[in-house]
Amino acid sequence: MDLYDTFLCAYCGEENAIFIEPEDGLRQTLTVDCEICCRPNLLRILIQEDRTVIEAEPES
Ligand SMILES: [Zn+2]
Repeated sequence: MDLYDTFLCAYCGEENAIFIEPEDGLRQTLTVDCEICCRPNLLRILIQEDRTVIEAEPES
């Protein structure tokens, strides 16, 4: 079952929606292009029992 969540773009601050696949692990690192400004966000995702924590930072 996919998890639906959102993160704020590290560049423009706009909200982006993503789907997370828990089968890929409880700690994940993904690079996702912002839907608004198209720049790449490096996402550090931590899946917990009751919530998902997503930190977005500019991809260097
Ligand atoms: Zn953006």
